Amino acid sequence: MKHIVVVGAGQAGFSVVSKLRNLQFDGSITLIGNEPVPPYQRPPLSKKYLLGEMDVERLYLRPLSFYNDHEINLKLGVEVTAVDSVQKTITVGKEIINYDELIFTTGSTPNYLPPQIGGNLAGVYVVRNLSDVDSIVSEFIINKHVLIIGGGYIGLEAAAVASKLGLRVTLVEMGERILQRVASSETSDYFRNLHTNNGVVIRENVGVKRLKGNDCVEVVELTDGSNLEVDFVIAGIGISPSINLAKMAGCKLDNGIKTDATGRTSISAIWAAGDCASFPYRDTRIRLESVPNAIDQAELLALNIMGGNLEYKAKPWFWSDQFDVKLQIAGLNSGFNDVVTRGANSSISFWYYKDTELLAVDAMNDPRAYMIGKRLIEAGRSPGKDLVKDTSADLKSLL
Ligand SMILES: Cc1cc2nc3c(=O)[nH]c(=O)nc-3n(C[C@H](O)[C@H](O)[C@H](O)COP(=O)(O)OP(=O)(O)OC[C@H]3O[C@@H](n4cnc5c(N)ncnc54)[C@H](O)[C@@H]3O)c2cc1C
Repeated sequence: MKHIVVVGAGQAGFSVVSKLRNLQFDGSITLIGNEPVPPYQRPPLSKKYLLGEMDVERLYLRPLSFYNDHEINLKLGVEVTAVDSVQKTITVGKEIINYDELIFTTGSTPNYLPPQIGGNLAGVYVVRNLSDVDSIVSEFIINKHVLIIGGGYIGLEAAAVASKLGLRVTLVEMGERILQRVASSETSDYFRNLHTNNGVVIRENVGVKRLKGNDCVEVVELTDGSNLEVDFVIAGIGISPSINLAKMAGCKLDNGIKTDATGRTSISAIWAAGDCASFPYRDTRIRLESVPNAIDQAELLALNIMGGNLEYKAKPWFWSDQFDVKLQIAGLNSGFNDVVTRGANSSISFWYYKDTELLAVDAMNDPRAYMIGKRLIEAGRSPGKDLVKDTSADLKSLL
């Protein structure tokens, strides 16, 4: 009987095993994760769960019984430490497990502040795992001062929650502007205004030089020479794909585990999906860090293991919640040279073009603009810019 082993019990790991059973795969399946809890959704960790509005059980993608019922051998709280792609085995503690097909869904690891600058002091947190957030929650006490390092989506979401809960919040971003890596200056301006109007102090062009304190962080020295007294710090300074095992197995790497369009790595019995995998997209390669990608890629991979030989056609989309704003993003904006604004104030969208080609849409509290933009991008259709600007024009007629 064929044995499929999946390393990494997160979103992609869950999606691939449940899809395999859904497709009537009748071999054995082992899903291994180094966290002590069943696969769960991460997005609420920096949103409703951090805010205290969601119970832990609601984070779980399925209750534990699901894995039993579907004959999925779920091993939790254990780390896979070695892979032998010639013998087709993996090592978990003292156990050696054989596989016929191996799938890496190892996700990504947060970037940490180096210990040389005080990154290892108590009171310095990251937001990646449930256990990270459970340890931050006890710090969220009214009037405490939190410094958030990094103005990306995770940092901004954590800032919004902290501010809502009555903490004093300062966010520093060493780039010219928040969201610089992922969005236009229009979107950055929108979120800067939103945060400052809600009492968050945002300081751009400012990095961290050193964190100081005896055991626990107390003062942060910034690159502009100023010092900030803080109660705790959250670092939201990006993530790196978890590639160590794939490297050990001899898989080719390229900003993550390199796969072909079907999800197969350079070693034929090994596959990868989710945050850790880089795959062909149009005439380049990309790696996406999002739930929709983890699900779609993992489900396609299950079909391919069952003999599908299908190519992954990514349809990137993403969302973020900050204060009372829901941001929805369709498409990928890389290479844009023009941004067109539709709407105003709280319900607004920014449409990214490369010349006349529509690449992406950032929609704030405007689900209709998001939906239409997404469908247009997926259909490869680009509305004229004047039409997009004109809020009386019905974009739906273009579909
Ligand atoms: C706070 C937060 C908020 C987010 N918000 C959004 C959002 O709003 N929208 C969105 O689309 N995406 C969001 N994301 C991103 C999204 O959660 C990820 O893209 C998604 O979880 C990727 O799924 P994955 O299965 O690839 O990785 P993960 O869900 O990270 O799962 C990988 C698992 O593998 C485990 N693992 C790694 N190595 C080993 C090993 N050697 N042995 C055993 N286990 C191992 C890891 O510990 C982890 O449990 C957010 C992420 C975070 C952290």
